[in-house]
Amino acid sequence: MKIVNEEILHRAAGYAVEYLEALPERHVGARATRDELLAALRVPLTDQGESPDAVIDALAQQAPRGTVGSAGPRYFGFVIGGSLPVAVATDWLVSSWDQNSGIFAVSPLASVVEEIAREWLLDVLDLPRQSSVGFVTGGQMANFTALAAARHGVLRQAGWNVEEGGLAGAPAVDIVAGAEAHVTIHTSLRMLGFGLKSLREAATDGQGRMRPDALADLLRGSKRPTIVCAQAGNVNTGAVDPLREIASIAHEHGAWLHVDAAFGLWGRASRDRRSLLDGAELADSWATDAHKWLNVPFDNGIVIVRDPAVHRAAMTVSAAYLEQTTGAERDSVDWVPDFSRRGRGFTVYAALRALGRRGVENLVDRCCAHARRFAEILGRDPRVKILNDVVLNQVLVRFGDDDKLTRDVIARVQREGTCWLAGTTWHGVAAMRISVSNWSTSDEDVVRSAEAILRCIA
Ligand SMILES: *Cc1c(COP(=O)(O)O)cnc(C)c1O
Repeated sequence: MKIVNEEILHRAAGYAVEYLEALPERHVGARATRDELLAALRVPLTDQGESPDAVIDALAQQAPRGTVGSAGPRYFGFVIGGSLPVAVATDWLVSSWDQNSGIFAVSPLASVVEEIAREWLLDVLDLPRQSSVGFVTGGQMANFTALAAARHGVLRQAGWNVEEGGLAGAPAVDIVAGAEAHVTIHTSLRMLGFGLKSLREAATDGQGRMRPDALADLLRGSKRPTIVCAQAGNVNTGAVDPLREIASIAHEHGAWLHVDAAFGLWGRASRDRRSLLDGAELADSWATDAHKWLNVPFDNGIVIVRDPAVHRAAMTVSAAYLEQTTGAERDSVDWVPDFSRRGRGFTVYAALRALGRRGVENLVDRCCAHARRFAEILGRDPRVKILNDVVLNQVLVRFGDDDKLTRDVIARVQREGTCWLAGTTWHGVAAMRISVSNWSTSDEDVVRSAEAILRCIA
């Protein structure tokens, strides 16, 4: 049997290049329905199998119509980010190397690359340099892991080892989040055994930011172990909580401060956005995504914890058969919930090394400038209302001050295909949400998309 099937690798690379070349001009939405995709792919499973070429052909042929062009330049639906060519290429290699990146002993390269990616991330995001970093699947798992560390940290302070004793019988923990915290904070709390009833919501302002006075009211007089979840980058408005004030209130009460900054944290790489994220460095843990604004392929999230000992205590596994190293080496299992895992640090390393500090800054600044341009072009039309302060990469748009018209315009834009946007409900009214997070979006893409949106109002 031939071990290297060169032909199929080239075949796949050919399909990939073809797909990427068509991306900028294709209809951005998916064109095939569920039934059509099932009809094409749900063949009877055979006893003998099929040729690898036939399998690759069958899948690749459905990609142009069954995928959404979310990796392309005019997809603004969710904060999805594209993939830098260097990150896609690195990801191909990661699959070829097929390294189990859970411990140093099974992949020294993956381990060392994650060590370096950790240092570069803390540099670019300007967070405390001793912090520990885990490479997880996304913002959801980054929030989960950070809050597991928080749970360990605040309960240890209260004299309780939650890793040993569990939550039954543990001191009650208060959790406070802004009223517009991302749903993955709620999921994380559920998975950590806190239950949603332990969550108290601090009121938010007109842009969705947690109000420091509301937080102070909730914490006043409480002596219980407390975790505060702030947000940098509201999914609708892009707004960032006033982090310096929140940090000061949280720490005055001995609380752990976690910041969910799935996309917003990247604003710290930009000198222009820096003041918006002032105080983020004071938190105890952070969750962010590389698959969003750093533009590496899915799935790739990052958890950062100020106190590595607490992070490790919440995540580490020990088993005699794993003790294969001297102690200096990084074992990923100490920092993430996964055991066997993909080498997620590789694409982060590649993207950061290829972009450099100024490259990351330019990527962030370009997306923010595109968002402002959208607001400017659309906002000139009397039928359009821009609902948010455009401080980052998000724009909220409403048409004719009318829910129905707004939803109709969104549906028409999706059908028309020049760009793709989604709807949301913002403070009780329907809105179109524009998120700009792709390295390949050009000024021309913004103008073309804005024109297509305006045509769809008529
Ligand atoms: C996207 C996002 C998440 C979830 O991240 P995933 O990578 O989708 O798991 C969490 N919080 C915020 C603020 C987000 O924007």
